Amino acid sequence: MTAPLNDERTPLFSDPGQASHIARIEISHHQFELDPPFPAAWDSQPRRQFPATLVRVIDSEGREGVGSGDVMYGFDDFRHLFIGKDPLDLERHAGVIDNIGFHAGRCWPLEVAIWDLAGKILDTPVWRLMGGVSNRLRAYASSGTHRPLEEVVALARQVQDAGIPALKLRFGRPRLEDDLAVLGAVRQAVGHRLELMVDCNQGWRMPWDVKTPWQYAHALEVARELERQDVYWMEEPLYRGDYAGMAKLAEETEVRIAGGEMTREPYEFREMLRQGCLDVYQPDAVCSVGMLGLARLAREIVAAGKLFTPHTWGNGIGVIANLHLTAGAVGPTGAPYLEYPFDPPEWTPEKRDFPLTTPLLADGEGWLTLPEAPGLGFELDEHRLAATRATQVTYQ
Ligand SMILES: [Mg+2]
Repeated sequence: MTAPLNDERTPLFSDPGQASHIARIEISHHQFELDPPFPAAWDSQPRRQFPATLVRVIDSEGREGVGSGDVMYGFDDFRHLFIGKDPLDLERHAGVIDNIGFHAGRCWPLEVAIWDLAGKILDTPVWRLMGGVSNRLRAYASSGTHRPLEEVVALARQVQDAGIPALKLRFGRPRLEDDLAVLGAVRQAVGHRLELMVDCNQGWRMPWDVKTPWQYAHALEVARELERQDVYWMEEPLYRGDYAGMAKLAEETEVRIAGGEMTREPYEFREMLRQGCLDVYQPDAVCSVGMLGLARLAREIVAAGKLFTPHTWGNGIGVIANLHLTAGAVGPTGAPYLEYPFDPPEWTPEKRDFPLTTPLLADGEGWLTLPEAPGLGFELDEHRLAATRATQVTYQ
C-alpha cells in the first residue's frame, strides 16, 4: 500500500451477479502432532506440534474463502471493520489490514481468505486475478534441519531423483566448518545437477533467542566459501536491518544475497531496492504486505532486475497463496524457484499440508502447477481440522 485509503474508491473487481457482503469471519487454531518431533534449524527446541490458524470469510451468499499463515494475534477487536463490506473491495481491505498491523498483529491471512472468496465470486483462479502471467513455478526443496552430513547428502539425492531442480541447506551449526563440510559433500554428490541455496537465518529469531546475528566480516567469510561452491543464493547473512552490510555484501561478492522474509513494510523493501541490499526478495504474503501489495512490489522488484520469490515456510495454504501471487504476478522469469518446504521424515508435504485434502506436490520436473479452479483452488480436510482443533498455537 502506498498511502492511506478511504471507502469511496471503485473496487478493483465487481461482482457479476448480485453484490454480496461479508457476513462472518471465523478464526480457528489447530495443532498437528509431529511424531517424530521436527528439529527446526532456526528453533532451539524440537517442535512437537505444528500449529495452524485458519481464517474463514463467509459472504452473504454463503460462499467461503480461506486463508492461513500468521496467527491473527489481536484481530478480534477489528473484525467489525470488515462485516457488511463488499468482499471485492480488495484494495480497501488490504489498507485496513495494513492499518491493523500498525496497531496490533499481522493479519494478512485474512486478505488471503478474501482473495480466495473473491476468486470464487468471480469464478476465476487467483493467479489470473494477480496478473495471469503463469499458473506454475518450479519448486526448490527447502530443508529445515541441521542433520549429519550423510543424511543431508541422502536428502539431496532424494530431491534430485524427484526431479526438483534446487535444494536449500541450512547453516548455523555451532561450527562453521561443519556447515561447510555438509555443503561441500552435497556439491560433490550432486555436482551441478542441483542448484544449491544456503539460508543463514540471521534475520530471524524465535522470541526467546537473543543471540547476536553475524557481523559483516563473518558473513563475508561465509559468502566467499559459498562462491567457491557456486551457491545460487545466500539467504539472510546479516541482521534484517543491516542495509549497509547487505548492500556491501551484494557488491563485494558473486553469490546472490537473499532476504526480507519477515520485513514488514513496502517502504522498507523499496529502500532496500534503492540501496541495492538484495538480489532476491522474499516477503511472504501471509506474513507481510499481503497479496495485492506484494503483486505490485514483485513487479517493481523484477523490473529492477532482481528476483522475487517468497518465503513460504508454513502450512500448504501459505505455499499455495504465495504460488498464486508469484506465478500470476511475475511467473518463472521473475521467480525461477519457489520455496517448497521438504525435509522428510519429519517434514513431508502430507504433514505440511495437513489442513488440506490433497497436499501440494511437485511433478517429476519440480513444477508446482495451479488449477483453473476458482479462488485458491484447494479443499479443506474438515475431518482432520476438527480432530486437531486447539486453543493455542505453540510448537510444544
Ligand atoms: Mg529463510
